[in-house]
Amino acid sequence: MHELTIAQSILNIINEELLVNNLSKVIKISIRIGRLTAIEPESLKFCFEIITKNTKAEGSVLEIDYVPIRCKCSNCQIVFTVDELDFICPKCMGSNLKIISGNELQVVGLEAE
Ligand SMILES: [Zn+2]
Repeated sequence: MHELTIAQSILNIINEELLVNNLSKVIKISIRIGRLTAIEPESLKFCFEIITKNTKAEGSVLEIDYVPIRCKCSNCQIVFTVDELDFICPKCMGSNLKIISGNELQVVGLEAE
């Protein structure tokens, strides 16, 4: 299960941060996920809730910023959002694209005490 692995690595990051900053309880954690990672936000929240039981992150809020996939066409240089995973330029129908965003998977904020 993809999301469970991700949730586990988020918890690992949290634990390191708590240790470094001498904190004991997580209130909120903010992450950015690109759509290309194929992570289901709801599923990730569910997994996160399960694995944080009886940890310092139990009951914390997982805030997910879901980043759309954006591409730049190498032919006509336009930037567009990919909705249906069809990687074709809407202007020139070319497929020589460069992915600008959508691969993100990072912890951007941690609120703890
Ligand atoms: Zn184009």
